[in-house]
Order: sequence, then structure tokens, then C-alpha cells
Amino acid sequence: MHIGRRAFNQGLAGSIASGIVGSSAAAARSYRGPNVIIVRFGGGVRRAETIAGQTTYAPYLLNVLARRGTLIPNLTIDQLQDVDTSHAEGTLNILTGRYKSYTKVGAQGLAPLLEPDQPTLFEAVRKAFDIPAHQALLVNGEDRPQEEYLTYGGHKHFGVAYRSEVIGLYRYKLHKFRRILEDNKAPEDVLVAARKQLDELTAHDFRNTASHTSGVMQGFWDNWREQYGDTGLKNPRGDRLLTELAVRAMRQLKPQLMMINYQDPDYVHWGNASHYTRAIAIIDQGLKQLVAAADSQPAYRDRTVFAIVPDCGRDANPLMSVPYQHHFNSRSAHEIFALLLGPGIARGKVLDKPVDQTSIAATVGAIMGFRMRAAEGRVLSEILT
Ligand SMILES: [Zn+2]
Repeated sequence: MHIGRRAFNQGLAGSIASGIVGSSAAAARSYRGPNVIIVRFGGGVRRAETIAGQTTYAPYLLNVLARRGTLIPNLTIDQLQDVDTSHAEGTLNILTGRYKSYTKVGAQGLAPLLEPDQPTLFEAVRKAFDIPAHQALLVNGEDRPQEEYLTYGGHKHFGVAYRSEVIGLYRYKLHKFRRILEDNKAPEDVLVAARKQLDELTAHDFRNTASHTSGVMQGFWDNWREQYGDTGLKNPRGDRLLTELAVRAMRQLKPQLMMINYQDPDYVHWGNASHYTRAIAIIDQGLKQLVAAADSQPAYRDRTVFAIVPDCGRDANPLMSVPYQHHFNSRSAHEIFALLLGPGIARGKVLDKPVDQTSIAATVGAIMGFRMRAAEGRVLSEILT
């Protein structure tokens, strides 16, 4: 199945390049609604360190940003059998509006490769509207090529033709080594090393989605390379890099739907609690930069909805040798939150009742003007003005 799919994608990539697929997308309506930026407050965070006033490491989120929108302090991941409270799983709950709507198609180390069975928000918005792939954008962590899988699924009416574009250091490295080889001006040892590294990176491109990029994306990465060079030492790293990429994308690509997959609180798996709390503070700073970027640009000011939501929570068991795990199905690993703000969202409101994580997709669909037909979660109409 895997090989067949790859071959299929290769054929389709050819169709995209020749414009066959593009012509059908052109029949869709042009998009006039608000931009939506989904911030995955990811890597698994508990309410205690985010939205609890006495113990938060995210003061901007809680004390400043929450006043501009509706806080949902009681968002939960349903206690269903076999629901894993983890990163790819939670991300797909957010993107499909369903629980367990994915198939495991492989693994990369410990991380599962999950393919959504129902359309993601990216596919749905691109099917409903004439939005190019680079304006339905996923900003991914540098060490998570498995999240390349999250951009489209195997649903027969959606799929690869409606996938999002992805930016992240993985994509940049692919671009850089291709350019070095195309230019063919570097010393022989540099060319040999570039060929080797490109082959290694391409081996992670399980779905063959990164083999063809548009001229717009090549321009984005050429510009990045001009500023930061080839060493990888000058650009920010970790979740600060995701903020930098997202802010740059807002200036240069103007995405209308963008998801930023923050992830660094997950470094707590190494056993050091301060990795977790420091990472939360860095995401909080990232939120401040993202909102400032939106507030300062005509394309985004007063016409951008932010939806901030964790992928999963974390354990509250102080007796664990490594605290803050999230794989044991404990209650607090299911307890998360959401904050939505922007035009059309009630300001300074707290929606204090249980809401499912799967309601985010349905609500984002309603805000953008399409229906997430397969979503199990409901549209949160009480937060819409
Ligand atoms: Zn984890």
C-alpha cells in the first residue's frame, strides 16, 4: 500500500507540475474571510503551567491575550478507549475534528507516522476556496519529518491535491542541498557531502511530498538562505525558529490558514522539568511576536483569528521518576484549554463548560465559511458574535 501510494503521488506531482490539477482548483471560490492562525501550544502542556494564574509560565497568553478573546479553560480530549494523548494524535484531533481518525502507516524511531482518514482543515479549506498551497501553511518543527504526514490524508475526495505547503528546517535543508548541487560551483567534497545529505533527507520524505516545490516556495527559501547562510548556526533554533518562520511567512507568503506546531515542552521527556517550563515561556513569547506581526500588517490587522490549543496535556503524578509524562492516559493528560481571539469572536469571555478538542476544527470551518462535514465536535456558536 505504501509503495503504491508513493507511486501515485509521483504521478500526481507530475500532474500538478503540468497544471492539470491546478485547473480544477481554479473553479473554487476566492476567499474573502478572516485569516486563521492555529497555534498548537504543543509538546504537551498542562493547565497548571499555562492557564492557572498562580503557576503559569505563559503570562502573555493568560493576562494579555485572553482579554482579547474567549478562553475555554475546560477543553478536554475525550476518554475514549485507545485514545493516545500524544502529539501527532492530538494534532489530528485538531485538524480533522475527530478522535482516532487516522491510520498508523509506519514509524520513525518511537514516533508513529499517522495518516488522517478524514479531511484535514487544510484540505477542506483548499477544496472550498481557491487558496494556493503556500497560503494554507503548516509550520513544522525541525526534527519532526513525521509531521509532514499531517498535511493531507487518504480520503478519496480530498487528499494530496489539496494538501498544505510545509515550512520547517527539514524543507530548508532539502532546498539548500538541491541548490548547491544545481549550482555545481562548490568544491568536489562539498558537492559529495551535499549529495549524501540530500539522499538521507529524501529518505525521510515518505510520501514524496517534498520532491516538487513551487517557485514561490523556492523564492522563500532562497531569501532565507541569503539571510542565514548555509551553516545552520545563525538562524534561531527550536520553537524560536518556528516563530521566525511563521512571522516571515506572514510577510512573504501571506497565508490565510496557518498552523504552527510548537513542540519544545516535550523535551521534558529527557527528565528535566525546567526544559518544560522554559519551553512554555518561549511559546508565550512566540505568541506575543505572532500577534504583534498580525497587528502591524494590513493583510492581518483586525482580520485574523487566532486559535491557540495544545496537542495534549501531561501527567500530574509527582511520584513518577520522570515527571510530566503524557502516554499513560491519566486524567490531566486529557485536560487542556483553548483560546480563540479575533474578529467575530467574543472578547473577554470565559466559556466555562466542557468542550471537546474536536470542536476546534468545526469552529474554524464555521469561521472560514465551510463545513467540516466529518467533524464529531460541534461549532462553538456561543463564542461567535
Ligand atoms: Zn512526548
